Amino acid sequence: MRPSVLNPLFAPITTLPGIGPRLAPLYQRLVGERVGDLIWHWPAGLVDRSHTPKVAAAPAGKIATLTVRVEAHFPSASSKRPYRVRCFDETGIVTLVFFHGREDWLRRQLPDGEWRVVSGMVEHFNNEVQITHPDHIVPLAEKDSVMGVEPVYPLTAGLTAKMVTKTVRAALDRVPDLPEWLDAAWKQRQAWPDWKPALTCLHQPQSEADIGADSLARRRLAYDELLANQLALAMVRAHMRKVKGRALQGDGSLRAKVAAALPFSLTGAQARSLAEIEADMAKPFRMLRLLQGDVGSGKTVVALFAALAAIEAGTQAALLAPTEILARQHFATISPLAQAAGLRVALLTGRDKGRPREAILADLKSGAINLILGTHALIQDDVVFHDLGLAVIDEQHRFGVQQRLDLAAKGSGTDVLVMTATPIPRTLVLTAYGDMEASRLDEKPPGRQPIDTRVLPASRMDEIVTGLRRPISAGARIYWVCPLVEESENSDLAAAEDRHRHLEQVFGPRVGLVHGRMKGPAKDKVMAAFAAGLLDILVATTVIEVGVDVPEATIMVIEHAERFGLAQLHQLRGRVGRGSGASSCLLLYETPLSEAAKARLEIMRATEDGFVIAEEDLRLRGGGEILGTRQSGLPEFRAADLAVHGELLAAARDDAKLIMDRDPDLSGPRGQALRVLLYLFERDAAIRTLRSG
Ligand code: ADP
Ligand code: MG
Repeated sequence: MRPSVLNPLFAPITTLPGIGPRLAPLYQRLVGERVGDLIWHWPAGLVDRSHTPKVAAAPAGKIATLTVRVEAHFPSASSKRPYRVRCFDETGIVTLVFFHGREDWLRRQLPDGEWRVVSGMVEHFNNEVQITHPDHIVPLAEKDSVMGVEPVYPLTAGLTAKMVTKTVRAALDRVPDLPEWLDAAWKQRQAWPDWKPALTCLHQPQSEADIGADSLARRRLAYDELLANQLALAMVRAHMRKVKGRALQGDGSLRAKVAAALPFSLTGAQARSLAEIEADMAKPFRMLRLLQGDVGSGKTVVALFAALAAIEAGTQAALLAPTEILARQHFATISPLAQAAGLRVALLTGRDKGRPREAILADLKSGAINLILGTHALIQDDVVFHDLGLAVIDEQHRFGVQQRLDLAAKGSGTDVLVMTATPIPRTLVLTAYGDMEASRLDEKPPGRQPIDTRVLPASRMDEIVTGLRRPISAGARIYWVCPLVEESENSDLAAAEDRHRHLEQVFGPRVGLVHGRMKGPAKDKVMAAFAAGLLDILVATTVIEVGVDVPEATIMVIEHAERFGLAQLHQLRGRVGRGSGASSCLLLYETPLSEAAKARLEIMRATEDGFVIAEEDLRLRGGGEILGTRQSGLPEFRAADLAVHGELLAAARDDAKLIMDRDPDLSGPRGQALRVLLYLFERDAAIRTLRSG
């Protein structure tokens, strides 16, 4: 159970004053649903209102706080003209301008003849000093409330700066004092503030330095989050290790048969990774290994050989894929090979129902099935193995820690191999996988040619389309990606449909369309037609992102390439260049192009090395690229920015290790405080491992 001290932060945002059904959705879009989501909504900058010149000396284009007397109101004559209020001090006149100003309200704020403190952006207009919509208007007695430094929060349509500032304040008022979870000596050495003062410092900054990513307050809060992340991973790992592992060591007979049936031999990197995996499996501990390899580096075969080793040792193996398409594709490549070795391979997805599903479950339970491939359907409760020795999880970033645990829990001491095609910078591997052992496929299968990547404005569409005629008549197959962005999914889908129609008009009926809204079988049919060469062009939203393999496809066109993060662009481009034919990738962008987008596209043009791209991605991402982060499978941090706080991550990992050595059940005083930390950052799945452990 969540410690009750955190309850105020987990209360719905509607419990704050003034947040009703109308505003709640706006705040939800801006920060989230709970009061606690507001405390991480930090100012993007500040406004200094301490500049208090006389009217005549107030420079244009700067924020000033003026003390003035109200002379007269000039209500607007028509709705097009603003309401004006003339004020003055001993040096001159300043006009306050209000569009759509309400007279009764303005007369109450600015009564004739009274003194007011007014703060806002000064403009000089027709030799007059003006402030349009002052940010603050207060009586002299409240002068101090506007004279300081004010945080400026990121906003969303429908919420004003004043509203957000007030709401964040209200949330901060609910922030409890929490027990200190940091090691006292470490905290002192870093000169970090306590948790609550750190938060306050960020929300009530006195200078730009206070809100910088390098401020002491910010570093402390970043470290908290990284520690929660690392501790949770360490706990899950310890939990997995607690279950006694088993030594799985086969005689190599199945592997020899499949190797003989393979049309190629393993690359050096594949052989090395496989040897690492086999060595882990042969040990009496539980394997927890990550296999990292760029798209097309040949992870599937490695997984198959690992499965064969488990089967040789008398157990079963399972391969979990994130999508139906991918599970089917694995099945199509793997089953002929496994059958050559006399094995029974089955496929289980959400589409299997009733009798056929029951038959598969029965054979899985009896052990008649040696290797099963599938989607989430494999994790369901009624899926029972005779003896699951190895669980392989492909494209793991689509799955949470819990699902990884769930699949592994179907066996006893089951070895776990996680595969990812997202090249992750070394520092970030830590955040997603803790200190899992990692094997890297850093060498591509032989015969691949470099991909010719070009960056072009979408305005050259006609020329681009015409340019495809020749390769198509020469038999080329083309992926054409039109991205979907959540917020405008409908219109984006319409754009993909339009493009499909457009290309059909130009090239005839051999143009297909797949998108996320299509039902599974319909999607598979189109994909299969493309794979079989019945279609020349496949227009797709990003459903092709993960793992699809059509070696004959040699051209990738990506519209709105500027909308994608680097990791995604890299994944998409990896769909081509898989066969022996020369491949190309056209990145089409819409103008204007932001500096960051320009830099991303330039990197894509310059290199194909996923690990280089990943490092650049981290460097460029800074705070903004939410789309990229979400889809890369890395945890999203609220306080930590790994481009800046990378070195804190290593410290957090060491800290987590020490904690696990000294107080693995988190039962001491610091342990109790750390539990609060884990709940604060919603890493409670880790705490559950303690209880079930
Ligand atoms: P990924 O790592 O993206 O999952 P795959 O396992 O799908 O890559 O492999 C990509 C392609 O490379 C497949 O067509 C596969 O048959 C082929 N392949 C894998 N290993 C080798 C190899 N050692 N030599 C030649 N081709 C290989
Ligand atoms: Mg794969």
